[in-house]
Amino acid sequence: MIYKRSSELFAAAKEVIPGGVNSPVRAFNAVGGEPLFIKEAKGAYMYDEDGNKYIDYINSWGPLILGHAFDPVVNAVIEKAKKGTSFGTPTEIETTIAELAVSMVPNIDKIRFVNSGTEACMSAVRLARGFKNREKIIKFAGCYHGHSDSFLIQAGSGAVTFGTPNSPGVTQGTAKDTLLATYNDLESVEDLLKANQGEIACIILEPIAGNMGCIPPKEGFLEGLRKLCDEYDVLLIFDEVMTGFRLARGGAQELTGVDADIVCFGKVIGGGLPVGAFAARTEIMDYLAPTGPVYQAGTLSGNPLAMAAGLAMLTELNDNPEIYTSLAQKTEYLHKGIAEVLIKNNVTHTINRRGSMISVHFAEEAVVDFTSAAKGNNDTFKKFFHGLLENGIYIAPSAFETWFLTDALSYEDLDATIAAVDKVSKEL
Ligand SMILES: *Cc1c(COP(=O)(O)O)cnc(C)c1O
Repeated sequence: MIYKRSSELFAAAKEVIPGGVNSPVRAFNAVGGEPLFIKEAKGAYMYDEDGNKYIDYINSWGPLILGHAFDPVVNAVIEKAKKGTSFGTPTEIETTIAELAVSMVPNIDKIRFVNSGTEACMSAVRLARGFKNREKIIKFAGCYHGHSDSFLIQAGSGAVTFGTPNSPGVTQGTAKDTLLATYNDLESVEDLLKANQGEIACIILEPIAGNMGCIPPKEGFLEGLRKLCDEYDVLLIFDEVMTGFRLARGGAQELTGVDADIVCFGKVIGGGLPVGAFAARTEIMDYLAPTGPVYQAGTLSGNPLAMAAGLAMLTELNDNPEIYTSLAQKTEYLHKGIAEVLIKNNVTHTINRRGSMISVHFAEEAVVDFTSAAKGNNDTFKKFFHGLLENGIYIAPSAFETWFLTDALSYEDLDATIAAVDKVSKEL
């Protein structure tokens, strides 16, 4: 494939944008080479500035569960925009989408909208700290909760890719209040709870992890966390920015039957526009300003265009829950197909999958936490990534990312993907 125009655009971008990108992992640093500049996309396909076509598994990093430029979302945004793009006042559509979200997700009474997943997680933790009047939090190595200071302690996703999990600029004061546990290891959590009794406000995690590749919780892990939180009087926060409305209408809570105290959303809830949200039972949510003392605000929060996109997306998912079954079946088909050709071509691998999230790890042992995810062979991943790209398959440019399937993918697309994996894996 020819990437001439992408290359020129990247050179120009680097002159005026740090690294040429507005979010680091887009720069291809982990895999080498230069990023593609995308011109347009529709359904399951993206087209770059040189006219190359790709089957897309990045999915804008998760939001586009119904495919690119999904007509009901696009039309809702256009119609709304004609009537004004922002007022800084309450609008009816904010209540409409809040009612719908609360009806779809178990165990929440109220929801507040923000502009990104980062904001949602950051605000949820502030609320937990205020509500419990305690300062420390527990997070898990390899879980990513956005780029706010408290979370940049062994975070997943781009932070891992760049090998700078502890970013300069995060103060010691902030870092000391974030305690680190091991994913899928209840003992590591209980040790921290015991050693810091009465000081921990909350435990935050990705209930199905997706930012160290896809790592589902082991049997009993989430149930065990719920029990520990009750025992030690600590709030449990599910960061469902990735899993919310993607794995089921009610997200991981519905899928696993485990209740969280606060739930964070992003990605799918905005239909591809910049939206985040956090939600909980009334007692907790009313602790937020203006009813309560914990401050949180946003000039563009609940923005009409973003709400219109989110409402169109959630409505479609709520009305057609069979999408989740069909997505899980497609993902299973892809899993089997890829596993078959990797085995045939003698490539050591482990594949993790849950719902429409899947990741291929070039690792020998089961990938169950950050340490085992980091054992994957990155040189093999780089070759795999570039080989797939050359064959028109676009996966995330990092071994620590999940592939997302969209409803727009056909079985022909999946077969084409498996055929490309077959071709590429012969040369690994
Ligand atoms: C993407 C993501 C975030 C951050 O969301 P942004 O919109 O990028 O700020 C937080 N948590 C999880 C689990 C995510 O996948």
